[in-house]
Amino acid sequence: MIKESAGKISEEFYALGTPSLPAYLLKGGTPVLFDAGMTFMGPSYLQELQQYLGDAHRLSFLFLTHSHFDHSGSAPFLKNNIPGLKVAASHLAAEIFQRPNAVQLIQNLSKGMEEANRSRIGDADVTFRGLELDRSLQDGDQIELGDGTRIQAIATPGHTRDAISYYIPRLKALVAGEAVGSFDRNFNVRSVFLSSYDDYLLSLQKLRKLEIDLMMMGHSYILTEGAQEMIAKTIEATKAFGRRIEMELSSLGGDQEAVVKKIFQEDYVEKKLIRQEERPFLINLKAQVKAVTEKK
Ligand SMILES: [Zn+2]
Repeated sequence: MIKESAGKISEEFYALGTPSLPAYLLKGGTPVLFDAGMTFMGPSYLQELQQYLGDAHRLSFLFLTHSHFDHSGSAPFLKNNIPGLKVAASHLAAEIFQRPNAVQLIQNLSKGMEEANRSRIGDADVTFRGLELDRSLQDGDQIELGDGTRIQAIATPGHTRDAISYYIPRLKALVAGEAVGSFDRNFNVRSVFLSSYDDYLLSLQKLRKLEIDLMMMGHSYILTEGAQEMIAKTIEATKAFGRRIEMELSSLGGDQEAVVKKIFQEDYVEKKLIRQEERPFLINLKAQVKAVTEKK
């Protein structure tokens, strides 16, 4: 079943924040959080952690699925406000978070939402000024939480190079990030490969081998059943979108910009399939067209 990412998900999992920017809390004996959306969300995540854990300081780990501003924006705020909190992400993200131009980009992309949510932020300092990881992860790394729970890091590049999905074998739960696509307004799967078409497919093949009872997506939804069917559909959607882009490229003489315009017009304007705002959708679509030209 498909459910919104909000509130209690299972005996141990909770979605904090808003469904579009969820942070997933695994309560357990050693509480950990997955993802920390845009900067302006920091104070509300903290408040909810306080509410669910009795004491937000009990949070031991924050695991990030990738370095995009809408998944990592609040990480520095949470680290500054929760003493001893350890932040983990891909070793590739570790480098990105230290790069001045990447930090600047996160700041720029966060600014509009910070201004629109001033009242939610109050006096809190949520500015993203870089992030030092406590643990940089490689594919296959296992993190023992000490309460009998093991978190498995699975490198799932393709949306970004630094994407990691987290599998919790004890619960057969997968925090997928954006490795498994997203739903459009008609609940059809949309592939969200950006950095590499080929890697995205390889990552999906990896996830296909897992036994999954609960799958948490990067935005808006969780699946309490049918995760493997969804992964199979995402593989199909990825290939179909790849073919569509290739066809458009050949009919438009290889003009990538024209292909972006055409698909935007059809899917965004006419069919109104997309939930995302226009600007990030266009940036992503451009990356998708480019990724298809680089596919093997
Ligand atoms: Zn992303």
